[in-house]
Amino acid sequence: DSLHILAEFNRLIAEKHLEGKVEASITGCFGFCEKGPIVKVFPDNTFYVQVTPADVLEIVEQDLIKGQRVTRLLYEEPNKKEKVAASEDIPFYKLQKRVALRNCGFINPEKIEEYIANAGYQALGRALTQMTPAQVIDEVKRSGLRGRGGAGFSTGKKWEFASMYESEEKFVICNADEGDPGAFMDRSIMEGDAHSVIEGMALAGYAIGAHQGYVYIRAEYPLAVNRLKIALIQAREHGLLGEHILGTNFNFDIDIRLGAGAFVCGEETALIHSVEGGRGEPRNKPPFPAQSGLWEKPTIVNNVETLANIPILFQEGAAKFAELGSQTSKGTKVFALAGKVNNVGLVEVPMGTPLRKIIYDIGGGIRGGANFKAAQTGGPSGGCIPAQFLDTPIDYESLMSIGSMMGSGGMIVLNDHDCMVNIARFYLEFTVEESCGRCAPCRIGNKRMLEILTDITEGRGTEADLRELKELSQTITDTSLCGLGQTAPNPVISTMKYFWDEYEAHVKEKR
Ligand code: SF4
Repeated sequence: DSLHILAEFNRLIAEKHLEGKVEASITGCFGFCEKGPIVKVFPDNTFYVQVTPADVLEIVEQDLIKGQRVTRLLYEEPNKKEKVAASEDIPFYKLQKRVALRNCGFINPEKIEEYIANAGYQALGRALTQMTPAQVIDEVKRSGLRGRGGAGFSTGKKWEFASMYESEEKFVICNADEGDPGAFMDRSIMEGDAHSVIEGMALAGYAIGAHQGYVYIRAEYPLAVNRLKIALIQAREHGLLGEHILGTNFNFDIDIRLGAGAFVCGEETALIHSVEGGRGEPRNKPPFPAQSGLWEKPTIVNNVETLANIPILFQEGAAKFAELGSQTSKGTKVFALAGKVNNVGLVEVPMGTPLRKIIYDIGGGIRGGANFKAAQTGGPSGGCIPAQFLDTPIDYESLMSIGSMMGSGGMIVLNDHDCMVNIARFYLEFTVEESCGRCAPCRIGNKRMLEILTDITEGRGTEADLRELKELSQTITDTSLCGLGQTAPNPVISTMKYFWDEYEAHVKEKR
């Protein structure tokens, strides 16, 4: 629909001789999926929701020509029945802090001029001309930025390790192999603001002494791939990639590698194998990629959201960046809010924001007036958070302490009609399907767990099955080779911990 809306705007702008006065432009995702397609009119910031091609004539005649808002297309605040005209007044946006998503829905991602006009590539220019690589690393370390892809390792320390190893060749890889069910943060950044990722990679390259970068991106994201290709060409044309970047002695370029949809390739060593042209299988660590990664050279792998934070971190300074967030988790986090919540969409909040604020104040509460039951965070590696933890501040440590994890930022809201055993089975089915099969605990153990869960959900489960499920969870966690297998039992462990009565009920029903 969005492309039809754009075509209709362009047709009417020509028909009504508005060229030179009005420009219709594409942009990246606004994040408010629930209300799309969205049309934003500048400079007033008027925010029209659920627009159809048939609405365009009214917007052109009433708003663009007469300067009067089309009230019926404005966002209506559900409980107040009030129309809200500007996006900054809509609670969904008002309560967010958009740092990684700062340009998404704001600039035209296919025009580098718009990125540059919004301070784009200033950080790279300043770093290359005024800072040493060690100072760049120090700035990232001082910001407290941690990897947004799941593990939450210090980005600055990762860069520092890679910088310490002597090698003629080093590499920077952007992990855009977003695979969690329901997650689309990285896709949105790539579609809406690929230059921020390119600039982040170039800064990383300068910091560690790399001259080549790769973006490993899912082939299932064709729009993101296309916009990335356009951004790379434009960056080269503007002397921001290639040889002698901005007239300095720093050379750095980026190539794209397409992933074929294997979830395990999100694991950094599997991803590296895949970039090398091999099968996407993880290997033991150490050595870590910072020491021996792509073609056994020092390599850093950072995820899309992490890299999108880098330019703004330098523009505003590490201290300002670290002002946001909690004691141990600095900055913001983007969540893909989905499931039984009113406002499905992309939400970016400071680390430490309570779950209740995300689900109720930003997410608009539970759909259809049902009751909240749990939030599943962290994708197939995460767990289910019950209502008693709604006021928990969300950061890396607090999520771990209640049996879940940040993961890449998937957040699926469940209501009191959802069966938690079925939810656990759904995630386990996904990981069994995605296991690379290299090690037995994951290949055989998770499959056995899935068989037991299937028996339980289909009324054939026994109490002995529940005991076996518990034992297997622990064994698989302790003995699997990579993160995929080690965390695969998490949805089972957390639902057994918080919703044991549902497991028991399934087993008892059978008798
Ligand atoms: Fe492969 Fe699973 Fe073993 Fe990881 S844990 S190496 S995905 S079989």
